[in-house]
Amino acid sequence: MTADMAAADVLGPEGPFATSHPGFALRVQQQEMASAVEQALEARKVLVCEAGTGTGKTFAYLVPAVASGIKVIVSTGTRGLQDQLYFRDLPQVKEALGSAISTAMLKGRSNYLCQQRLGLYHAEFQHLGGELAGHLGRLVQWSGRTHTGDIAEMADVPEGAEAWRYATSTVDNCLGQECPRLEDCFVAKARRAAMDADLVVINHHLFFADLALKEDGFGELLPTAAAFIMDEAHQIPAVASRFFSTTVSSRQMAELARDSAAAYHQEAGDMPDFPRALGDLEDALRGLRQVLGLGAGRSAWDECMAAPGAADAFERCRARLGQAVAQLEVLAPRGKDLAGCHGRGLELMRRLERITGPRQADEVAWLEAGERGFTLNLTPISVAESFGRYVKERDAAWVFTSATLAVDGRFDHFDGRLGLKSGQRRRWDSPFEFHRQALCYIPDGLPDPSSPAYVEAVVAAALPVLEASRGRAFVLFTSHRALQRAAPLFAERLRFPLMVQGERPRTALLERFRTTPNGVLLGTGSFWEGVDVRGDALSCVIIDKLPFAPPDDPLLQARLAALRDQGGNPFADYQVPEAVITLKQGVGRLIRDIHDRGVLMICDPRMLSRNYGRVFLRSLPVMPLSQRLEDVEAFFASATPGEAGVGS
Ligand code: SF4
Repeated sequence: MTADMAAADVLGPEGPFATSHPGFALRVQQQEMASAVEQALEARKVLVCEAGTGTGKTFAYLVPAVASGIKVIVSTGTRGLQDQLYFRDLPQVKEALGSAISTAMLKGRSNYLCQQRLGLYHAEFQHLGGELAGHLGRLVQWSGRTHTGDIAEMADVPEGAEAWRYATSTVDNCLGQECPRLEDCFVAKARRAAMDADLVVINHHLFFADLALKEDGFGELLPTAAAFIMDEAHQIPAVASRFFSTTVSSRQMAELARDSAAAYHQEAGDMPDFPRALGDLEDALRGLRQVLGLGAGRSAWDECMAAPGAADAFERCRARLGQAVAQLEVLAPRGKDLAGCHGRGLELMRRLERITGPRQADEVAWLEAGERGFTLNLTPISVAESFGRYVKERDAAWVFTSATLAVDGRFDHFDGRLGLKSGQRRRWDSPFEFHRQALCYIPDGLPDPSSPAYVEAVVAAALPVLEASRGRAFVLFTSHRALQRAAPLFAERLRFPLMVQGERPRTALLERFRTTPNGVLLGTGSFWEGVDVRGDALSCVIIDKLPFAPPDDPLLQARLAALRDQGGNPFADYQVPEAVITLKQGVGRLIRDIHDRGVLMICDPRMLSRNYGRVFLRSLPVMPLSQRLEDVEAFFASATPGEAGVGS
């Protein structure tokens, strides 16, 4: 029966979900979106669509995708969402449709055991004993039993153990077609399974890694598809920008040195100058890090090189890498691994030249430093041209969807960043009744966010709100610094359980929040999106200020300068739209279910005092707005206690 049904009808009152899934909510928005996706798939067109929280967009695209009869790739933001889609949503849709299509989930290469590297390092380290050798030994035994090589199956070696670094591959160290274990390579097997499947679930990193891999000649990671459905599409411009970049990291160079040493001991062993050259390279890398005196963060490459001694330290690294690669050239004919290391070394040299040599006007060279090392990057200021061309050249349907794509009801910003020109644009508001379920509170009298006492003022304004909500709140900050400053102030004065990002891993912290009555969680970054706490446990979201990106970011500066050169208005055309999307993500944490009620508190006075504040307001779901604390207290006083439980 369902085979002939239109996608909208499958999700309608007579469809299999409504008739056999108790609790399935009929949503006209979901049906309309399913129709729009169905048409885009049939006509091989582009559809960019925003579906507000609660629309049920996953089923709205999976139903037409499963029924389409064409090969579809569904890409989503994270591995967690990928699992959810593949193991929970997809089987339900297939069952409802009575569909027998074949499906596969393809993860990034770091999720699969690499037999070649495992063999190499097991031989290298087994005589040393200790934890690393023990783990590698267990992995060797497991490699004989597993059919998939998916590291999630292997519970005996803990996640994050050092052994995984030696037992999995990267784009740089994979030998590809030259690999002697290619026949039984798990990455290659997973790709072949994906090639044969009708519907493949991947993630954005994998999608863009595929584009990069093609350049390296490994072959096509992803099968040729007739349709691409990109969920959580608001993340794509940032992910695309990363994968269209040329990068070299201190870790890649150090790993090359380590891998070359292992390959040398296995396949040669008679050129004692070589290990010394590798040691010199590692020393030079350490020297450069010291000279740069790196804290975490991003800076323009030219500025970094202006620091005393930096240029010399960098040249030393480059020279040491060059010497190691020259010796690898001599050693390469002695074995496959040495040849592989030689190829990697040449590639790293090429990228270093590319990043630090003459560059185009539309590229920016910058350095990102973390606790463990640094990455040199050359990033195109915009990916619009290359990505737009890629979309145009594929004879395929493209669906880009998310709860947060539009700014003030328009898609110009998203389209502009990805170079999308053709096709349809649709937007469906959330089916939740924000006007009844939520209240937006913008306190009166807070200073400008640039004021030195701003964080203290935010905490003082938030405390009575948290009192009224009896905790049950997220306080979202736009920077770690503000979070660190606010945390002790809350700890001193708050009478509810306080959880602070960084105290424990993200999932553990969220679990604690879900299970602790009246909890207050302070977070930044990753807590702004992808967090789903339904019901009573989260009844208040407090946002410290409008989430404009840090103005000193070298990539942002280059993008703004380019816009200025083109006669645009960088603030209105770029900074505001980007901040609107981030704010919408943060706000989206509050109402997750038809039974949820909650207060959104935005502390930033610019929401009301500046013209651009209206763009933010118009981009949020329509809900009552107040500047009076009494309204917040009345809102919570009128709540029905225990209206809903804690969701997953
Ligand atoms: S092809 Fe690459 S991933 Fe596969 S076994 Fe060889 S080195 Fe490892």
